[in-house]
Amino acid sequence: MTVRALTIVFGLCLLRASAVFAAEPGIALHDRSATADSFPVATDVRLGGDDKQTRFVVDFDRKLDVAAFTLADPYRVVVDLPQVTFKLPDKAGEHGRGLIKAFRYGLIMQGGSRIVLDTKGPVRVDKVFSIAAAEGQPARLVLDLSTTDRESFLRNITMQDRTLHTSTGKVVSVPGEAEGDPRPLIVVDPGHGGIDSGTKSFSGQDEKDIVLAFGLTLRDKLEKTGKYRVVMTRSDDTFIPLDERVRFARAHKASLFISIHADSIPRSEGQAEGASVYTLSPHASDAEAARLAEAENKSDVIAGVDLSSEPNDVANILIDLAQRETKVFSQQFANNLVGELKSTTPLHLHPIKAAGFIVLKSPDVPSVLVELGYMSTKGDLVHLMSAEWRSRTADSMVRSVNSFFAPRMAGATGKAN
Ligand code: ZN
Repeated sequence: MTVRALTIVFGLCLLRASAVFAAEPGIALHDRSATADSFPVATDVRLGGDDKQTRFVVDFDRKLDVAAFTLADPYRVVVDLPQVTFKLPDKAGEHGRGLIKAFRYGLIMQGGSRIVLDTKGPVRVDKVFSIAAAEGQPARLVLDLSTTDRESFLRNITMQDRTLHTSTGKVVSVPGEAEGDPRPLIVVDPGHGGIDSGTKSFSGQDEKDIVLAFGLTLRDKLEKTGKYRVVMTRSDDTFIPLDERVRFARAHKASLFISIHADSIPRSEGQAEGASVYTLSPHASDAEAARLAEAENKSDVIAGVDLSSEPNDVANILIDLAQRETKVFSQQFANNLVGELKSTTPLHLHPIKAAGFIVLKSPDVPSVLVELGYMSTKGDLVHLMSAEWRSRTADSMVRSVNSFFAPRMAGATGKAN
């Protein structure tokens, strides 16, 4: 996608989203959705307890699904909700109580709202649940926190990183993990989703739909080989933050991460066509690669989840290329992939490139990002929309995955004998 297209299409969302989370802690922001009648309404909020245990309660006009997770530095608890209309008292959130310093809330994307609580120190989420109205009491969200030490807090974060935090709190499970299935795990990552549509073709197709269709085809074909466990970061139109995608792959010790995208360039910049395969580099291989990485990395900002400035684990190792082995494997796979794609789809003039894509930043998971083609180029768009092309191109990707894993699987068998 292009930066320009993003700015135009998402300019408004961007303003609104950043207004919610760029706010100083303690300043509550009110969601002013115009057509919010059908959404659950938050009517009141209460805090109880002390510096050891604190309860946070929000009244709603109906029961809803909730999910909570924690973030460090500064310590926060994030509560994800379906889209909610907040009609809380005016200064709600400015002052906390017990373990909660303050909280803020708002819409983060179409279909999703979020409450962020700033805590006084490391806390543990003892309980988070929602109950239906009963005995004259409204429906409620209840969050119980207790104090903990930093070490336990960080350990809990590692555990929670094993699930993907979607807007709906949906948990993506990894096939065979519990049974100790030894087959390599491949994460297929269709870009964008939900409020973030990615780039758009002139005829109105969204990148998020094209890459999802491709991702599903690729997953099915990989699974069919019987050689791999395959999991998708999203298998429907859901927004997933970029660093969640990375954390998920790392937490499950994925052996390969394949991110799927489609590009476009403004008419004024001429024509470009064909597929490209990207690996991670702190130095973009050319201006176009730099432009593209910047655009793709905007995904979180669009959905108002901008955690990119977080000093978290992923951010810290950002473009740390100390993990030479991972880098070598990523490049090796990129080469295999381009070799196979050559026979099935037009390639870009320089099909192997590098840039600082956030989703490629796992230090321990070989990762590539494939731009399938240009949605701004007629010929490319025709095949991007074709089921026959999709099938053929996914087949060539499966071949490249097979040749990537073949030596290592043989090695593993050799050791066992
Ligand atoms: Zn994209």
